[in-house]
Amino acid sequence: MGGPIPVAVVGVGKIARDQHLPAIAANPDFLLAAAVSRHGKVEGVPNFTDFESFLRDGPLAAVSLCTPPDVRVEMSLAAIEAGRDLMIEKPPSATLGEIETIISAAKAKGVTLFATWHSRFAPGVEPARAWMASREITSVDIVWREDVRRWHPGQAWIWQPGGFGVFDPGINALSILTHILPGPIHVQSADLEVPSNAFTPIAARLTMQARGQVPLSADFDWRQEGPQTWSIFVQAGEERLELHMGGAELVIDGRRVDVGPEQEYPTIYRRFAELVSARKSDTDISPLRIVADACLKGRQVQTDAFHD
Ligand code: NAP
Repeated sequence: MGGPIPVAVVGVGKIARDQHLPAIAANPDFLLAAAVSRHGKVEGVPNFTDFESFLRDGPLAAVSLCTPPDVRVEMSLAAIEAGRDLMIEKPPSATLGEIETIISAAKAKGVTLFATWHSRFAPGVEPARAWMASREITSVDIVWREDVRRWHPGQAWIWQPGGFGVFDPGINALSILTHILPGPIHVQSADLEVPSNAFTPIAARLTMQARGQVPLSADFDWRQEGPQTWSIFVQAGEERLELHMGGAELVIDGRRVDVGPEQEYPTIYRRFAELVSARKSDTDISPLRIVADACLKGRQVQTDAFHD
């Protein structure tokens, strides 16, 4: 590779500041070349308030798209049309149709497209996948309960159509599930609790089935105060594997396994550099398909209004 890859961060909000900017700064394979945001600014680089003028007048740089999912399709297609390599935050788009169009466009243009799932890079996930690959899995249960006020303060978009509601964190668990348990997963039922002043669920309970009729369940809730729960429980007959803290902790048969430090976003950027260098793409949409199916099969009930 001839020097670091220039990259522009688009959508300077919580995740861009918390993770993307530090990961880029720490990775010699990248050079932050610009920021694009209507309100957010990054010091030391050219800032653009709209994406079109960045593509037209800005530096020739890859794009790291950190905007909410509902505005990604237009931006992704514009970036691809301009020949930019592209990395997108999860969920990759608001609908399956949109991401399919993005994938086709990237293929036709020959640019690298990386639809990221940061939770797949949690340090317990690969060891869990290896453990599961050599066993007959008999059940998987996800419990993903967090406090929306703590993790999404003031973010109105999460309650709008295309904002995913509790599936915004829930899809992280589903990205781990689809990675550690490859193969088709079918949603059997979905109970969705939607606040009376919102369009997206604040809680969702799913039952699913994997190949071989393995029962799976997911309990997503955004109303958990105090300690937060991001856990996956896997049963293989009498043996049991547990992932906690979003995949940062691994417990097998009651014993904690040392999996090393959390490195999700540094690993994402290492992977993006590899993909750009190999002129390849990485675009798995299976977690989004489960969310879409849950919405298709979902039984919605109205619950108390939510106030931030
Ligand atoms: P956020 O704080 O709202 O930041 C997103 C930024 O995108 C906004 O600050 C906004 O900046 C820009 N934007 C462009 N068009 C927008 C629109 N129509 N509505 C709202 N914002 C718009 O959100 P975030 O938490 O960073 O989440 C962004 C993505 O990262 C989501 O897909 C989320 O799932 C993912 N993610 C978030 C976290 C987390 O902990 N929050 C963790 C992992 C992944 P301007 O107003 O300056 O344009």
